[in-house]
Amino acid sequence: MLRWPRQILFGDVDAMFASAAAVKDPTLTGKPIAVGGPPPRGIIAAASYAVRAFGVRSAMPTAEALRRCPHLQLIPPDRPLYRRLHDDMRRVTDRLFPMTEWGSIDEFYADTTDLQTRHPDPRLLAQLVKDSIFEATGLRCTIAVATGKTVAKIAADASKPDGLAIVEPGREAAFLLPQPLRALPGIGPKTAARLEPFSIKTIGDLLDPRWDQVLARMFGHRLLWIRELAQGRDREPVIGDRESKSSSHETTFERDTADPAFLEDVLRGFLRMLARDLRQEGLAAEGCTVKLKDARFAVTTRQRRFSHPLNYDPEMWPTVRQALHELMKPHAQYRLAGLTLFSLVPIPAGLYDQRRRKAVQAMDTIIARHGAVIGLGGVCDDDNE
Ligand SMILES: [Mg+2]
Repeated sequence: MLRWPRQILFGDVDAMFASAAAVKDPTLTGKPIAVGGPPPRGIIAAASYAVRAFGVRSAMPTAEALRRCPHLQLIPPDRPLYRRLHDDMRRVTDRLFPMTEWGSIDEFYADTTDLQTRHPDPRLLAQLVKDSIFEATGLRCTIAVATGKTVAKIAADASKPDGLAIVEPGREAAFLLPQPLRALPGIGPKTAARLEPFSIKTIGDLLDPRWDQVLARMFGHRLLWIRELAQGRDREPVIGDRESKSSSHETTFERDTADPAFLEDVLRGFLRMLARDLRQEGLAAEGCTVKLKDARFAVTTRQRRFSHPLNYDPEMWPTVRQALHELMKPHAQYRLAGLTLFSLVPIPAGLYDQRRRKAVQAMDTIIARHGAVIGLGGVCDDDNE
């Protein structure tokens, strides 16, 4: 069997919340159920495949869903159940893969390039993952294997439910060609609607030189990147996250930015919030990772260790700030910034002297009551920014 230069496996549970309800109560299996809040104001959070046939979709008002499918059975969300199933799935992926990136509670990427010696056939590996997750949780998922994250995700979406898709190296462009435009990340329903009059409907249409000018006008400098992606060229790395041992936050900006002061403000805000969470949980972090995604969707990260475990943000900030500045490239425009605090450990004895511990605790109580509108300035002498 041919060795792939790069191999990414993507997994996605089918109708996670609705399927979870059926795991808890098997009599609901195959029934027209949806998870969501009651009308008039409730929204559908997840629809089982049995009600999708009636046109019920997630994010639809429950009242509308009930009009389309009057015998729909509404199930209230059960977060502890989802959490438990997620943890069970994580135990499976931790056992199978050296590193997994969970994009949400029910979706993950794993870089399986180095597993090819042990699992030379990607189809057998994908089946093993499917079976192992089903065995551990009772949840069915769709698995796709490709040379990049984007193609793997699109292949899985096209193979749901209970699917298994392999896009061999070199077959990416041919696979993407007939796929609908909206399947491509970065093309939302609005953009798709604007392209419709030109009968640009599939990913393949994006490559048609007839539309060069139309597309250049619409996408500007992003066109190059979109066309790369449309041919399945995508080097975005799988970034491992160990949720139990790290804590992170990220945001996508309304418009791309090259402003270091703005990025500093954003990360400083994340750090304040994450550090407060650590203090409340009695934890400290051994290091931080700053993540930036540029206007072409290229992700870069920089990792730094603290001299010792910390959970007081003014002490952590110089290291985070340094990582940010090492990462920023001149003239680059950024669309997303994120911060992870990793290697979380129980607070070592003697991290603070008594006086400062009291001051920080008092501040956390006020923040908990009134939100994070007040800083720590004035309470501790080293926080004077
Ligand atoms: Mg899913």
